[in-house]
Amino acid sequence: MFVSSVKHIDSYYASSGTWPEFPALQDALNCEILIIGAGFSGLHTALKLAEAGVHNVAVIEASRIGWAASGRNGGQAILGWSSDMGPLEHDLGYGDALALWQDMEWAAQEIQEIPKRHGFDIDYRSGHLWCSVQAKKVAGLQHWVEEAQNRWHYEGLRFIPKAELPQWIASERYQAAVLDQNGGHLHPLKLCYGIATTLQAQGVRLFEQTRALRYQRVHDHIEVETAHGRITCRQLVLACNAYIDQLEPKLNKKMLPVGCFQVATEVLDEARLQAALPHNSCVTDNQFILDYFRRSADNRLLFGGGCTYMGGMPKDIHAFMQPLLTRVFPQFADVKIEYAWGGHLDCSVRRTPDVGMDGNVYWLHGYSGHGVLPTLAAARAVADALQGQTERIQRYQNINNPNFWGNETLAAPIEALSKMYFRLRDRF
Ligand SMILES: Cc1cc2nc3c(=O)[nH]c(=O)nc-3n(C[C@H](O)[C@H](O)[C@H](O)COP(=O)(O)OP(=O)(O)OC[C@H]3O[C@@H](n4cnc5c(N)ncnc54)[C@H](O)[C@@H]3O)c2cc1C
Repeated sequence: MFVSSVKHIDSYYASSGTWPEFPALQDALNCEILIIGAGFSGLHTALKLAEAGVHNVAVIEASRIGWAASGRNGGQAILGWSSDMGPLEHDLGYGDALALWQDMEWAAQEIQEIPKRHGFDIDYRSGHLWCSVQAKKVAGLQHWVEEAQNRWHYEGLRFIPKAELPQWIASERYQAAVLDQNGGHLHPLKLCYGIATTLQAQGVRLFEQTRALRYQRVHDHIEVETAHGRITCRQLVLACNAYIDQLEPKLNKKMLPVGCFQVATEVLDEARLQAALPHNSCVTDNQFILDYFRRSADNRLLFGGGCTYMGGMPKDIHAFMQPLLTRVFPQFADVKIEYAWGGHLDCSVRRTPDVGMDGNVYWLHGYSGHGVLPTLAAARAVADALQGQTERIQRYQNINNPNFWGNETLAAPIEALSKMYFRLRDRF
């Protein structure tokens, strides 16, 4: 599945600022490292390289900077991988799984440091609440607090029983929660553009409206074809997420584009929003098809939920999302929804990240709906490898990421069917 556009979608994020434009590539280009895709994965990789003093790097983007998942997401910077730690420990053993967890702790700090270091703002606020809808899943939350402490040496979590929940969230829907003060939330498109303008100032060449059509290895370099010019590079990074499509069929077979949706309300009275989320934490629940929400810096409620494994979007996202929002906050039934949008995320079979290298071609994707911090951790591994340090990327390469069953037509319906069992478990 490949989609592109000359402008940002009509999201709250896109409308909340003015975003500089970058030129389309019009001619042939030679560079040392070419990064395809200007979402978090590509931009973080370029930033790590620029910070290490690596020169002659270019980034190409088929649409606009942060046009896809990275500019549309919930903005929740949550510690952990979508798969949780079990599959990672199974594949890597305890020591390397612990190292991946520590990468996540690093990413949670680094995401706050990047804007300070480079002088831009991403509206960062700390605090993430992971809430249980069902009483039977409360034990799972308590178990995670203990596992995090005992196995992953992570002391950042605190269990919040139901009696204490009203201090954190004004919703009857939840039975208990885990608070992580090292998690938080941010404006994702501001992060994308903050990094892009930093890169530009440091001499990285960025091109929008420049789709890579195909690439081939020629001796010790790579030639990438775009509509208006051929790019020759020595090393290539594929950071294309759900849109990898036929640019690299081997990677395409490992990813399923999953559609998910979000709304933003009108600007609300500060006191009213404060009553709903007194500590301004972001919230996710532990349902299989989860709800996630938070306050924006300008006092809106940003609410996400629902998803479709068939990749499509509901005709009316607003109508689809409104009942989910009022299920959590009936007190907001009168509130107007001003923006409704959707996006695609890159799901892998086991929800594990797929990060690796083959000669001078590198890739990073498969965050499975949980990419704000994982993209940063993965980008560090790729940037290291581009500079000859492969310890981190080798860890990722030992993760088993099988292909989806069925061909391109059948993979989505097969996956959608297999997920019905988990959807039903959300209800009972
Ligand atoms: C609605 C939604 C809500 C989400 N909420 C959260 C959340 O709250 N917290 C969280 O942790 N994660 C969340 N995620 C997931 C997170 O946004 C992603 O994991 C992350 O943004 C992936 O970043 P990326 O750079 O790998 O991919 P993307 O942001 O998708 O970027 C890939 C880029 O590559 C470009 N591209 C692809 N092919 C080509 C080509 N051939 N030539 C040129 N360019 C190309 C695309 O145009 C695109 O801009 C959410 C995702 C969605 C869709």
